[in-house]
Amino acid sequence: MNKDDITAIKKLLSAEKHIVIVPHKNPDGDAIGSTLGLYHYLKKHNHTVQVITPNDYPGFLKWVPGENTILKYDSQTQDSIKAIENADIIFTLDFNAFHRTGQMQSVLETSEAIKILIDHHQEPDDYATYMYSDVSMSSTCEMVYNFIHMLNDTDKIDAEIATCLYLGIMTDTGSFRFRSTTSTTHRIVAELIEKGAKNSDIHNNVYDTNSYNRLQLLGCALTNLRVIPELRTAYITLTQNELRKFDYKKGDTEGVVNYALSLENVILAAIFIEDKQEGIIKISLRSKGSFSVNEFSRAHFSGGGHNNAAGGRSETSLHSTVEKFLSILPQYKDALNHE
Ligand code: 5GP
Ligand code: MN
Repeated sequence: MNKDDITAIKKLLSAEKHIVIVPHKNPDGDAIGSTLGLYHYLKKHNHTVQVITPNDYPGFLKWVPGENTILKYDSQTQDSIKAIENADIIFTLDFNAFHRTGQMQSVLETSEAIKILIDHHQEPDDYATYMYSDVSMSSTCEMVYNFIHMLNDTDKIDAEIATCLYLGIMTDTGSFRFRSTTSTTHRIVAELIEKGAKNSDIHNNVYDTNSYNRLQLLGCALTNLRVIPELRTAYITLTQNELRKFDYKKGDTEGVVNYALSLENVILAAIFIEDKQEGIIKISLRSKGSFSVNEFSRAHFSGGGHNNAAGGRSETSLHSTVEKFLSILPQYKDALNHE
């Protein structure tokens, strides 16, 4: 995003507009934090703003300021379509391709609104009028902070905006531990605390609201953990029956793959989750160092993401998906052992 873009966006936002903000399907902390952070900011400039998520999000995000104003496209389709059709501007946050919005893809594609992309995933599609894409960023929330900064408006950041942005930086950096966490990230986070983000409360809200069933499901996942030491890989499977047994709720498997990655010597971790409703196996991949799970997932599992965190999917059974994974891995033996 260059100076001319910023000048143009400033001009665009100088008059009241109808604005829709959209994150990716199955929104996570960064998706909800960035969309709501931007929502509160734009509201301060008297725009009419609506956040629309493609579908619902986990309970551990149902406290974020403004969360109760969100429209969910899959259950509030007519209202969502109306807002999109009325929009002068659509911000797309925390994703790089329209297909990541699921069923919203076609309405977004046909909309003639000005599109502004803010995102940190690799290889963004070229659909936006204005694009702020930076794969080195810890999170889209950090980018929304920068966006507000570029508009010379950081004094508009209040406790609500700060809370939203803190949330997404915290979740996308694994609580400030991933490589993408820079000294600048910490400076921004410090400023957000000064502006009223209650850091300890935010951590509690997200991480310390486990149900008993969720911990039992984690126990089951850890029991299913398998390790392939010669390939420095570990993976976890969860069947639909196991999810049902522990009364699975959206978000219950979030972060489970990180336990596999935390094993000594392991640099590639995967979780395969059976989703009978969608008829797919949902795959999460994580890595350490230069092994790119973005490339791996793009090449083999119709997905993508970042170098060290990516998602993917498979339309065959859980068993054959894992078989495929195991049969591909030896090709990467050198890469996995040269870290
Ligand atoms: P997760 O494993 O938590 O679902 O996703 C890890 C990261 O990869 C997240 O940043 C997520 O937004 C991204 N991601 C997940 N699935 C896909 C996908 O199918 N395509 C792309 N490009 N990114 C994905
Ligand atoms: Mn993100």
